[in-house]
Amino acid sequence: MASSVPVARVLVVGAGTAGVAAAEECSRRGIDVAVIDRLAKPDPPWGSWPDLLAPPGTRSAAAALPLRPAEPLDSIFETEVVAVRRGEAVTAGGPVLRADSIVLAAGSRFEPAVVQGVRRPGSFVLDSPGRYAELGSAFGSADRVLISGEGARGLQVAERFSTSGAKASLIVSCWQPSEPSPPVLEVVSDAALERGIAVAPGKVDRVAGLTRAEAVLAGGEVFPCDAFAFVPRRVPRAVPLDAPPGRSGGILVDGTLRTRVPGVFAAGGCAELVGCLRPGSTLGAEPSMSGRVAGANSAGASVRIGPVRSWSSRVFGLSWSKTGPGAPACRALGMDVREVGRRWHAHSACTLTYEKKTGRVVGTEVIEPADSPSAALAPWTAGSATLRSLAYGSLGSSDISLISDTARLGLISWSGC
Ligand SMILES: Cc1cc2nc3c(=O)[nH]c(=O)nc-3n(C[C@H](O)[C@H](O)[C@H](O)COP(=O)(O)OP(=O)(O)OC[C@H]3O[C@@H](n4cnc5c(N)ncnc54)[C@H](O)[C@@H]3O)c2cc1C
Repeated sequence: MASSVPVARVLVVGAGTAGVAAAEECSRRGIDVAVIDRLAKPDPPWGSWPDLLAPPGTRSAAAALPLRPAEPLDSIFETEVVAVRRGEAVTAGGPVLRADSIVLAAGSRFEPAVVQGVRRPGSFVLDSPGRYAELGSAFGSADRVLISGEGARGLQVAERFSTSGAKASLIVSCWQPSEPSPPVLEVVSDAALERGIAVAPGKVDRVAGLTRAEAVLAGGEVFPCDAFAFVPRRVPRAVPLDAPPGRSGGILVDGTLRTRVPGVFAAGGCAELVGCLRPGSTLGAEPSMSGRVAGANSAGASVRIGPVRSWSSRVFGLSWSKTGPGAPACRALGMDVREVGRRWHAHSACTLTYEKKTGRVVGTEVIEPADSPSAALAPWTAGSATLRSLAYGSLGSSDISLISDTARLGLISWSGC
């Protein structure tokens, strides 16, 4: 039987964004903590995946940030955890590590691409920093690049190509975390078109060409291209635990980020929140926040996160944010909701999802020129606000005019219900 070695009071599995945040939180609270990672050198905190398409010297400062925790942390690298149980982490071929609490922060992975011919030269599955860099250096400008897969990141990839002079098109097979509401999709598609990028829903069936990618087949049509880039979805990377996985295969956690195994917590991309209004949502878009909460609770605190999840992105000079679920997710949960949305200007739109009976706003989606205030304030508008409080409430209609105006529009149709 493998020996069992005490390592620290808290053991954090994964030295990514969530894991480092959890460990820092423990250190801050004076708790003895160790971090373990399967990699020799965990990926640094990221700026963005599409940044990696740019030549190294021109990447954003955030993409180049080194992994440098505020406090020196006790780290074990190149060691994979293969199973976790109460108070113990089993390592591959190594000892069983003992700790009072364990925080799982194993992140997410790219779902494998299932497109015929996708491994052909000139076709790139963007599933690692290296593949982004390869695509960026292989195809600079004046090429026809066809991008397909997940839409939100696909848009950012297409934007990078269009700024370097390439002609990019995007075929979207899915959206993460969820499909945009119609007014928001209209704004984003038009902003893409202004840069010469055609966006269409669909699925690529095959990458074709004699020796390299020359065209893709999608929905019975042929799209000639010089390069093909596939943007895969991200799915949770779970560590085996004696508890059933969530809907997306993640580790189920409650609002205190406790798993069903006592003393074991989870945060970041591997953690799936029970009772989340967007079922199957992971905490991958909020790795630092969830890491801090899991770290605090593993150190004995009692912090709780709400069921409303936020996501934000920037593309084409626009800020795009979602807080809470949209109408399709609510209806799938049996909630009786309505949606009010409008494109207010060429580059701005807002959609609110609210309970038909009470007018309580459960979801907000906003897109508008970057640095406008509504997108930044959107996280405060879903969950407890109502159409009435957003339309005339204390947040101040000048700060969130886009949201207030949409709420006023909603009030008109709601009072007519
Ligand atoms: C270059 C780059 C650019 C990125 N750009 C974006 C972006 O634009 N948008 C976006 O949303 N995300 C982006 N990401 C992803 C993002 O870093 C993380 O997925 C996200 O921050 C979630 O953080 P996390 O801590 O949950 O997971 P991660 O940061 O992925 O950390 C998980 C860590 O756990 C380790 N691990 C996994 N399983 C085990 C195991 N069994 N035993 C031991 N260790 C294990 C992994 O090696 C990894 O270091 C990017 C990542 C990189 C590397």
